Amino acid sequence: MAEMYRKKRKPCQLCLGKTIDYKDVEIIRKYINEKGKILPRRVTGACAKHQRVIAEEIKKARHMALVPFTR
Ligand SMILES: [Zn+2]
Repeated sequence: MAEMYRKKRKPCQLCLGKTIDYKDVEIIRKYINEKGKILPRRVTGACAKHQRVIAEEIKKARHMALVPFTR
């Protein structure tokens, strides 16, 4: 078991009780890079389940034009 966690990684913020909302630009910005792309899990530390939640919220934020949209 220890093998999996050998490398220090950030805990999933959402598992820790944090919420993400597309209207909360400050939070959304933590999960995108300067080009507006969604950061990979190894950067955000999010678990698979919550990474999907994050991606959904970011997509909504893009639709609302709260964050830059890149193709
Ligand atoms: Zn999680």
